[in-house]
Amino acid sequence: MEIAIIAHDGKKAEMVQFLNENREVLEQKQISLISTGTTGQKVEKAGFEVTPYLSGPLGGDAQIAARVAEGLCHMVLFFRDPLEKHPHEPDIFMLMRICDVHDVPLATNPATAALLIKGL
Ligand code: PGA
Repeated sequence: MEIAIIAHDGKKAEMVQFLNENREVLEQKQISLISTGTTGQKVEKAGFEVTPYLSGPLGGDAQIAARVAEGLCHMVLFFRDPLEKHPHEPDIFMLMRICDVHDVPLATNPATAALLIKGL
């Protein structure tokens, strides 16, 4: 199972904390993590194995959306920062739409992500 990890700048620390809290589940052999570029650097620093794609503003969200559309990515944990503006907002909405199109679980905040992880 492939899980995408994305966090806006204001939420990256919270994402690392979330991953640490759920390390046991996420380090199971059948789970692989992918991420946008900068999020991936933080996740790697925290000691997780992750495949990073481009940074979000450079197309990373679009790359992850493509994997969702192709059936390669099975869950998206996307800690969005609703209090900031993002130049790549069209890509963000596109990723969320693609998740809905393909009925792929998408968490946009830590509380929902915790429930999804519990469901694994
Ligand atoms: P980043 O991208 O991990 O490269 O910061 C996240 C995003 O803004 O979509």
